[in-house]
Amino acid sequence: MSFDRQALPEPESYYENAGLILQGRGKWRTTTCHFHGGRTTMRVNLESGAWVCMSCALKGGDVLAYEMQSTGADFVTAARSLGAWTHDGRTPAPATPKAFSARDALSVLASEANLAAVAASNLAYGTQLTSDDLARLQTAAQRINLIRETYP
Ligand SMILES: [Zn+2]
Repeated sequence: MSFDRQALPEPESYYENAGLILQGRGKWRTTTCHFHGGRTTMRVNLESGAWVCMSCALKGGDVLAYEMQSTGADFVTAARSLGAWTHDGRTPAPATPKAFSARDALSVLASEANLAAVAASNLAYGTQLTSDDLARLQTAAQRINLIRETYP
């Protein structure tokens, strides 16, 4: 096998070991951005490991992306140094996962908002929602909330 995402270090210990002081409470913590000169404009997500600098706009989806950005290492090298590369070699590296862009977020928001609008319209015209509809609506709400938290 190759890259093992489960083997990535926990975000909190990883970022602390990287010398970052995590401030604040909750899932998103504030810390220093070492990529543009040390101001406390970086936010890191202790659940996913995602990080984004509010100043220089560098960002990534996990601790692996942070490792690559901070060391300049490629995907395999960074994964290996984090103990998340479980094969010694001949298979080609997987494609670097694409970051979830703001454009992607807008696209998801648009389709989830449309779904919610359709459900609301059904209710307005007296159409009952099925339990599947309700479950899907909750998924939509979770996705919208997730994006709202990611792009505060
Ligand atoms: Zn920065």
